[in-house]
Amino acid sequence: MSRNEVLFERAQKTIPGGVNSPVRAFRSVGGTPRFFQRASGPYVWDADDKQYIDYIGSWGPAVLGHAHPDVIKAVQDAAVNGLSFGAPTEAEIVMAETLCSMLPSLEQVRLVSSGTEATMSAIRLARGFTGRPTIVKFEGCYHGHADSLLVKAGSGLLTFGNPTSAGVPEDFAKHTRVLSYNNIEQLHELFKASGDQLACVIVEPVAGNMNLVKPTREFLQTLRELCTQYGTVLIFDEVMTGFRVGPQGVQGYFGITPDLTTLGKIIGGGMPVGAFGGRKDIMGHIAPLGPVYQAGTLSGNPVAVAAGLTTLCLLQQPGFYNTLETQTRKLVEAFNSAAQAHGETFSADSIGGMFGIYFSETVPATFAEVGQGNIARFNTFFHAMLNEGVYLAPSAYEAGFVSVTHTDAVIEATRQAADRAFESMK
Ligand code: PLP
Repeated sequence: MSRNEVLFERAQKTIPGGVNSPVRAFRSVGGTPRFFQRASGPYVWDADDKQYIDYIGSWGPAVLGHAHPDVIKAVQDAAVNGLSFGAPTEAEIVMAETLCSMLPSLEQVRLVSSGTEATMSAIRLARGFTGRPTIVKFEGCYHGHADSLLVKAGSGLLTFGNPTSAGVPEDFAKHTRVLSYNNIEQLHELFKASGDQLACVIVEPVAGNMNLVKPTREFLQTLRELCTQYGTVLIFDEVMTGFRVGPQGVQGYFGITPDLTTLGKIIGGGMPVGAFGGRKDIMGHIAPLGPVYQAGTLSGNPVAVAAGLTTLCLLQQPGFYNTLETQTRKLVEAFNSAAQAHGETFSADSIGGMFGIYFSETVPATFAEVGQGNIARFNTFFHAMLNEGVYLAPSAYEAGFVSVTHTDAVIEATRQAADRAFESMK
């Protein structure tokens, strides 16, 4: 037995499914999850000391590559002064100032400890601000595991949503409408029928939780216009895309300003940090200023903030996003050329430092289209690549992530691995 297998067997005795977050269990691709012991730059090493080129990057945060020395030093320096105070610190102010200066739509921001907390709090705030109950999300977008967000579409557009998880009461799901991503007609229809009851629309402005699916500009623009027209709060969930798609996230990339933004992942530099922020008139409704309650024992944790601030500082260096985007494009070209050489039905796409690979002729634009790809073929490719020392997301419904440490040599090694993987799949 490999050490990964031993650890997986042991883990399952005391941890449900052997993992602390479901996708890590390799359920959709099958096989034994890899247990990691260390990481550096673009690489991770598993419990058997096998090295992999990592395209997950902790699901997004590792945009500088793993264990950047400046970030590690900032964490060490902060830790020496105490791990948590449960009281305000100057570093939190610097963090808030940094986020507000980097994202012009943020007038005020509050720190939390995860993306889930950020979206959950932003939705409560939108409901408290508007006094309306209903929220809108899109099929295939993931916003964390709060009750009102674990909801799928009901049988018709104007019907209530249904829970996607046991433990979510139908009464909760009733307040969530689920529409199809990139579908402008549905948006018009819903707003026309019940726009004055909609507290907020929450959207991944570039979706990364159904593989990578890009919005059309018209889709985002329509969202902005309808929300403004009906007084509905537009929430861009940039937990994944914030500082990954570009220096101002998707909102800067498309030049569309949301009312609230949720952040996570990169802003913690690998430590647990989330944030939500936006218009000051909306943020003023949060406790202690206003009636919407929200709190956190570890919110603004000094060690996590130190990692996040150092990360945000490093990615403001000139040329950072140029490098990130170029390397991600090169990776897409490498996958495409390897697939083409083997006559695979395959496509790939990227934006900023995120990419998608699809076993379909064309790049999908909706959740349903992602499902029409050859998922079984992806699963085989995943294992072939793992065997070749490349760690891709263990699901055809997840995007991939590149860091600035994915150099040309690393990408060429990935192309060669993909070439051998496709060969082995014949
Ligand atoms: N929103 C988006 C877009 C995400 O991708 C995620 C996590 O992957 C979340 C929210 C939830 O973040 P967390 O896992 O930190 O709770």
